[in-house]
Amino acid sequence: MAGRKRTTDTVPLHELLESLAARIGEEVGRKLAEELARPPERAASTPERVGCSKPGCGKKVAAKGLCKGHYNLMLYHRRKAAGAGSPPPPGRARGRTRRTEPT
Ligand SMILES: [Zn+2]
Repeated sequence: MAGRKRTTDTVPLHELLESLAARIGEEVGRKLAEELARPPERAASTPERVGCSKPGCGKKVAAKGLCKGHYNLMLYHRRKAAGAGSPPPPGRARGRTRRTEPT
């Protein structure tokens, strides 16, 4: 009568790993939930993502850390400073990039 005492001592590895993974997953999940529940403090340190960088504005950023209004204003001032005179007609400033397609 040879008993089948082969797996009594050995702890099934996959079970051990599973329980470990479950615990790790729980921990990570809890930490993640905590992070998500917390207000993003790090984002506050980057004013570009929060709102317009112009003091006293704080509107939603459209581009370059400025709101739509201030960005347009910045472009306007820049254009005015760059080309003192009449602005180039629209459509002409952009050169058409024409590629010769190989046939
Ligand atoms: Zn603004």
